[in-house]
Amino acid sequence: MGQSADHLTPNQVQVLNHLRAANAPMTAYQLLGRMQTDRGAVAPPTVYRALKGLEEAGLIRRIETLRAWAPVAAIRPGVVVICDDCGTVRGVEAPGLLESLHQRLAAEGFAEARQTIEVHGRCGDCAEDRA
Ligand SMILES: [Zn+2]
Repeated sequence: MGQSADHLTPNQVQVLNHLRAANAPMTAYQLLGRMQTDRGAVAPPTVYRALKGLEEAGLIRRIETLRAWAPVAAIRPGVVVICDDCGTVRGVEAPGLLESLHQRLAAEGFAEARQTIEVHGRCGDCAEDRA
């Protein structure tokens, strides 16, 4: 996917592969289950360490409202939209929105450290199915 995996540990590679193969974000608990299926006993800290490392490497991103993780390649900067029917997550670029939010916060003297805008709803495919 364009991103080098050369510096990743075997655990990180395994977690990343599971996330990339999934259609929807996965929780640490789900990842733990997959890894245990792959190779038997795996302790939770192994999964958490791998997730932390992948996040620091900019390869995955936590979806706060789902307490789950998704490969960053599937999510561009902007607003994260989450389909509550099929579970797909994608990024919608919204430069105007982010810029106006930034200006509004700056006017209040608020220093942004981290920003998460997540919108739940139904994706186009699922909305069509309901129609
Ligand atoms: Zn959907």
